[in-house]
Amino acid sequence: LAPGEALLKVQRASKNFGGLVAVNEVTFEVAAGEIVALIGPNGAGKSTLFNLITGVLPLTRGEVWFRGDRIDALPTHGLVERGIARTFQHVILQPDMSVLENVAVGAYHRTTAGALASMFRLDRRQEERLLREAQYQLEQVDLAAEADVAAGNLPLGKQRVLEIARALAADPLILLLDEPAAGLRFQEKQALADVLRSLRAEGISVLIVEHDMDFVMNLVDRLVVLDHGERIAAGTPLEIQNDPTVIEAYLGG
Ligand code: ADP
Ligand code: MG
Repeated sequence: LAPGEALLKVQRASKNFGGLVAVNEVTFEVAAGEIVALIGPNGAGKSTLFNLITGVLPLTRGEVWFRGDRIDALPTHGLVERGIARTFQHVILQPDMSVLENVAVGAYHRTTAGALASMFRLDRRQEERLLREAQYQLEQVDLAAEADVAAGNLPLGKQRVLEIARALAADPLILLLDEPAAGLRFQEKQALADVLRSLRAEGISVLIVEHDMDFVMNLVDRLVVLDHGERIAAGTPLEIQNDPTVIEAYLGG
């Protein structure tokens, strides 16, 4: 990767659903160690674009590049191998397993990439290594004190952070999050933002799809604004806050 070259490049990404143009020729980049938000009113095309980037949906036109490789249409394990981790809009945890075990399972899936083997077939030494790594991930996101709690008993805000810890077990260069702050209380949003800032400080890039403007404004380096599938603005939080086109899109519905 050349110095200053973007990590993730989305080039003229487009998606049609029948006659509906959900995403139209959207271009943007995410650099190493940068937090970028993709924002816009409901129906703007945010989740569709997220799904195009993560290979969940095929592009109608356009390309997605990561560190010099085309990544659109790669299977999930291909993304994980290249250093791309994502979480899902609905939290998917093993509610009866401990917080620590949930992260260890994430690390285990990384090492075996879709094999049929189960956690129970690990030898003692492998298991201890996974649990040690998981403990480290929990410390990174400030969840070490809850290591032994059943994941299902955590409040929602901490479940979201646990999802991130589990994604970190894959040792990603970039983390992709779809509406991570949805449904969280104010303090939980603050704690989540702190976790994302600490990841950035370690050089991990973050791309957040978010409806909640307040959450992203104090967190991200840059924003890309979508409306009716089009990129209508891009810039720093200050630039976006004062952009009449963006204000119009949010107010005009
Ligand atoms: P956002 O996440 O910004 O709220 P979406 O990406 O979910 O927006 O939706 C963008 C547009 O595409 C909307 O008009 C939505 O109804 C439409 N859409 C999304 N997914 C599908 C689908 N699978 N089939 C048909 N239309 C879809
Ligand atoms: Mg959405």
